[in-house]
Amino acid sequence: MRKKILLHTCCAPCAIHPLAVLRDLGFHVTAYFYNPNIHPYLEFKKRLDALIFYCDANDLPLIIDGHYQMADFLRAVVFKEQIRCTICQYLRINKTQEYAKSNGFDLFTTSLLYSRYQNHNEIRNQCEVLSKQSEVAFYYKDFREGWQDGIDASLALGLYRQPYCGCIFSEQERYDKTFKSKRDKPHVENDRSSNE
Ligand code: SF4
Repeated sequence: MRKKILLHTCCAPCAIHPLAVLRDLGFHVTAYFYNPNIHPYLEFKKRLDALIFYCDANDLPLIIDGHYQMADFLRAVVFKEQIRCTICQYLRINKTQEYAKSNGFDLFTTSLLYSRYQNHNEIRNQCEVLSKQSEVAFYYKDFREGWQDGIDASLALGLYRQPYCGCIFSEQERYDKTFKSKRDKPHVENDRSSNE
């Protein structure tokens, strides 16, 4: 019996390499879209539509938490902007492990581990802590090793590739380099888009 793994998926391009790795290992993979950080709404729709297209083309089951929960995200990070990425990652990973637990998955993991611009070790630690609490196993892999393969494949497929990480703050930083340089950075690597 193949083990069922829930792959939290931030966007289609970041899912390509993790999916290949997990399928090579024999897992039955299901993608899970929960990303309340994405701003504005049309950007959220663009990323989701690209993921739906990719999943259809690759016979990948997809569970969508499609309610646009930007207000929840903003309530969680307001007055805590300096640690917003930690909160953002936690919200998404926590929801993923909750869904995995409630729906009989053997393991969970996240495409956030593919990004070169996120705080990789922090994401790994959050997953490990939440896994212990929920008793759903976490599958760790440094998916960054497939960084260029994922980019090449997404370009070949013509997938939408977002130019900033996702939240309203990162959208400002995309254009406003002064804002970017003035901000105190808890982690330099958090400061970039996953696909820019
Ligand atoms: S920069 Fe990216 S990881 Fe950080 S809060 Fe914004 S969307 Fe989340």
